[in-house]
Amino acid sequence: MHTPKDLPPSVIRSSLDSLDLEGYITFHDVHNASKDFGNRYHLPPLAILHPRSASDISTVMRHIVRSTSNLTVAARGHGHSLQGQALAHQGVVINMESLLPSHDIKIYKGKQPYVDVSGGELWIDILRETLRYGLSPKSWTDYLHLTVGGTLSNAGISGQAFKHGPQINNVYQLEIVTGKGEVVTCSEKRNSELFQSVLGGLGQFGIITRARISLGPAPLMMEICSPGLGE
Ligand SMILES: Cc1cc2nc3c(=O)[nH]c(=O)nc-3n(C[C@H](O)[C@H](O)[C@H](O)COP(=O)(O)OP(=O)(O)OC[C@H]3O[C@@H](n4cnc5c(N)ncnc54)[C@H](O)[C@@H]3O)c2cc1C
Repeated sequence: MHTPKDLPPSVIRSSLDSLDLEGYITFHDVHNASKDFGNRYHLPPLAILHPRSASDISTVMRHIVRSTSNLTVAARGHGHSLQGQALAHQGVVINMESLLPSHDIKIYKGKQPYVDVSGGELWIDILRETLRYGLSPKSWTDYLHLTVGGTLSNAGISGQAFKHGPQINNVYQLEIVTGKGEVVTCSEKRNSELFQSVLGGLGQFGIITRARISLGPAPLMMEICSPGLGE
């Protein structure tokens, strides 16, 4: 008899396949999720989750905790890690960019402007949208084709960091799916331990599904190095 920890892949596949999700899980076409920008590691996952909502991620996490608890999970942003950080060998990779269609960019103007975005949003798209209001994130990355979740799990460094600190110093609030599948809102004042752990936490303390990011007046002139911003 198999214990939950050594279930054969076919059983894990069919149990994951039976979950009721807004998005979907695929067990084929895992090639892209087997490597990252560094191209040094080739570690195919068992499955890729394409979530449409935080609830999808929560459902899968709860299922894994309940049934197949040694299955590893990794959130994948734009896959620009160099050392396989966004890979899950024979585990589940969560394609965070799938969250986008149902989660748009919401900008709040006022004395302390901010933007609410999906964890799978690219910084280039946030900059494009906020510039329409004369605003921009206070702290960027120099290369902008990276996701919010991917850089907030590290630090997020650019030319503005000397003045405003890295991106993780410019976040008001996060929505997180924890390792147990709970969906938790956190900030400096609310669930602050989780907030501080996830920021710069290398994806080990929870999955960032939404982020509230501090904005400031956009500089009147800037040098754009990122391809496609002027399109
Ligand atoms: C060409 C290039 C240019 C770069 N430029 C800069 C730069 O200017 N400034 C800078 O600071 N860094 C830069 N980096 C480094 C980059 O910020 C990090 O590698 C970043 O983690 C990549 O973001 P990503 O969206 O590709 O994340 P991924 O590589 O997909 O993931 C990175 C890590 O974050 C975790 N993760 C991803 N999404 C989430 C989520 N939603 N919730 C929780 N964890 C998550 C993953 O599991 C993984 O551990 C650059 C890298 C490259 C290759």
